[in-house]
Amino acid sequence: MKRILSLLLAITLLAGLCPVALAASPNGFLTAAVYNYDKGGYDDAREMPLVNLRLDGKSIVGEMPSVILGERTMVPLRLIAEGLGATVTWLNEEQQVLVVRGGRNILLTLGSATALVNGKSQTLPDEVPATLISYKGQGYTMVPVRFFSESLDCQVDWVQASYTATVDQPTPAAGETTTGQVTTGTTSDLLAPLDKPVDPQSRIIAIDAGHGGSASGAYYEKTMEKDLTLSMSKKLESILKALGYQTVMTRSDDSYVGLYERCDIANEADADVFVSIHCNAAENAPDFQGLYVYHHRGSSSGKEFAQYIQEQVCAFTGAVDRKINSANFVVVRETTMPAVLVETGFMTCHAELTNLKDDAYQTRMAQGIAQGLIKYLNDHPKKAAPSETPSDTPSEAPTDGQAAPSADPSSAPSADASAAPTADPSASAPVEEQAAASPPAGLPAE
Ligand SMILES: [Zn+2]
Repeated sequence: MKRILSLLLAITLLAGLCPVALAASPNGFLTAAVYNYDKGGYDDAREMPLVNLRLDGKSIVGEMPSVILGERTMVPLRLIAEGLGATVTWLNEEQQVLVVRGGRNILLTLGSATALVNGKSQTLPDEVPATLISYKGQGYTMVPVRFFSESLDCQVDWVQASYTATVDQPTPAAGETTTGQVTTGTTSDLLAPLDKPVDPQSRIIAIDAGHGGSASGAYYEKTMEKDLTLSMSKKLESILKALGYQTVMTRSDDSYVGLYERCDIANEADADVFVSIHCNAAENAPDFQGLYVYHHRGSSSGKEFAQYIQEQVCAFTGAVDRKINSANFVVVRETTMPAVLVETGFMTCHAELTNLKDDAYQTRMAQGIAQGLIKYLNDHPKKAAPSETPSDTPSEAPTDGQAAPSADPSSAPSADASAAPTADPSASAPVEEQAAASPPAGLPAE
């Protein structure tokens, strides 16, 4: 009798502890080791039940399968994030992962049962944290699928009979492209290490997506520059916001904003730095590619800032390094803070345009710019504002970019002169089509 009782007790305990494992048989097991954050190393390898993962009705698999851990279904971060078209940024020092999709963001700390969802602290279900798992000699960041997906506004269900977790996206998030495709590769392809920003909430970053509205910018292979610049600018905005920075966009949609108005927006917001994002064109040199960062010829702080951006973007994207250059572009001249114009690549070069259109490449571009910004701002801490000084703050609030252009574009000196590239066929160097008040002397030279 005692034996039966203890057996019953054992079953009850087992059922209480592992309801999932008892209810249906899993699709098999794999042997992997879980990182122990108290110990600071991997625990001994153990068996874990395998789980099928379906996204929008399609089965998705990577090198690391989905598994059950601590009664929760854990999926590889890279797999689910790519599937959902989310931007992932790895904050090395903090052992944190920042995930941004549409207007939502999650900050997960490896080994911690607390996460920030849109800035609000939340406890993970059953206190099962995001964690590292070592499988076949590779480390994978694993996240609890339900918490992760629901935080990004997706619907999650569990099909007991087939041991399947299903994730469904309602609609693609605005401004995000979702491919639904999953590529294989190493985690480092997606998770880029960024520095920890110092006091980011006190810093304002102005982001200027080149062109917009009737000004489409360069146009090649059915792609408009204004769409590429907006997409990259929004990715940059997402990353910076989630890191805690304040951001100001000169445009957030496909609207026309004059060059002087862009400067006004940044100046009135008293931004710490200004980053304008463009794409280049060199019609006479279809093989020519690479990255240029421009600063105003008279600005030493702009020059220094440009150096930070150029270095990091090249490191993150692998783009050909064309070095920094000075120019007399309106947006770097009329802005009052260190300002750069990033020529992200050449739309006239098929290979580079293919990159510029690629979602993952755009993310790396945004991460590179973000990293350059973080390093520059960390190295140049905000000076304490003089206190009790009578200020003459402008009575008008900063515009949201929707206001009518403050300067008549037709009267401004060759402002945003044309939507078509104006590459001079006689010049061997590529010509930026972005307007300058006078012909830029600092044209890129090979
Ligand atoms: Zn442009």
